[in-house]
Amino acid sequence: NSRVFSLIQPTGKFHIGNYLGAIQSWKTLSETESPGTQYIFGIADLHAITTGVKPAGELRSNRHEAMAGILSCGLNPKKCILFHQSSVPEHAELHWYLTCLTSMGALNRMTQWKSKARQLGDDESDQLKFLEHTKAGLLCYPILQAADILIYRSTHVPVGDDQSQHLEMCRSVAINFNNSYKTNFFPIPQTLLTPSKKILSLRNPLKKMSKSDPDQSSCIYITDAPEVIAKKIRKATTDSVQGPVYFDPEARPGVSNLINILSGVTSQSIEQVVEDLAYVKDHKQFKDHVTDVLVTEFKQQRELFEELMKDGVYLEKVCHEGRDKAREIATKNIEEVRKLIGMD
Ligand code: ATP
Ligand code: MG
Repeated sequence: NSRVFSLIQPTGKFHIGNYLGAIQSWKTLSETESPGTQYIFGIADLHAITTGVKPAGELRSNRHEAMAGILSCGLNPKKCILFHQSSVPEHAELHWYLTCLTSMGALNRMTQWKSKARQLGDDESDQLKFLEHTKAGLLCYPILQAADILIYRSTHVPVGDDQSQHLEMCRSVAINFNNSYKTNFFPIPQTLLTPSKKILSLRNPLKKMSKSDPDQSSCIYITDAPEVIAKKIRKATTDSVQGPVYFDPEARPGVSNLINILSGVTSQSIEQVVEDLAYVKDHKQFKDHVTDVLVTEFKQQRELFEELMKDGVYLEKVCHEGRDKAREIATKNIEEVRKLIGMD
């Protein structure tokens, strides 16, 4: 029996990278009929506070928006469990057991952590300042992620390739637990890499598109109004190469990122997209094309999102039902873990 599991953080509105790298594949997976497979997807609200304190009202409304966001992308609560991570306290308990099995060195090697550290600068005093002020939760983030996955004894985890290293860590945590307690309780979860490649920032195509990027114009949110999409695409960093567009991520990262977005959104291959763009004579025409496609593709989502945001009762019902189903699995598994450890 397989269990497919993934979470997304409520750190801000969802962008097309989140959609193509995560939510779209959750939907596709949960709609394939495969008897015996269970799908569990949710909002990683415990992860959302690893980067600092926010006013309670802000986190609350972000969590709410995130749930409306995944529902508006077409996830069906009858086909998968949809829940908030914090509503299942067993995640936090398993996180502690796993933290006590994981070395600081392994955490320190995580590139996402290192890149956050490097944002402050490269010399030693900057690094010390970083360690002095950065919270331990940010360093331990991958262990909580491992606990999220393992508490359901998940077998498959669909994520974008920015998460590959964290998944690798989850596997070694699972192996480590199994070896330490002489068991094979935790299956070793496999990464299901989403078909679409990493989507890059519109402003700086050398970085990934990220919810936590302070520059809102670096992201297209799935709920952006048509005129906002048009403006962001117009301002997107491309290059000064004249003539037709072609795909070359090394030499033309900005243009190639837009082609990649088109390919993901329309489910066409890169070759097909480029072929359809043969009529394009300049960047303006190219960008108008991208805008048209995005506005059309996300129209329905935007409307559904607005509807869901007005219907608090429905959202709450989905969350409660999801929580109950998730907890049923998690409580059973944590009891087994306690027995294995001797905490029962
Ligand atoms: P944050 O900046 O807060 O980390 P994020 O945009 O990186 O936000 P996450 O919540 O960390 O989003 O990731 C949710 C899912 O979206 C993951 O499966 C991740 O692989 C995927 N994802 C995030 N950014 C991208 C991207 N630019 N391209 C493709 N997939 C992405
Ligand atoms: Mg991220």
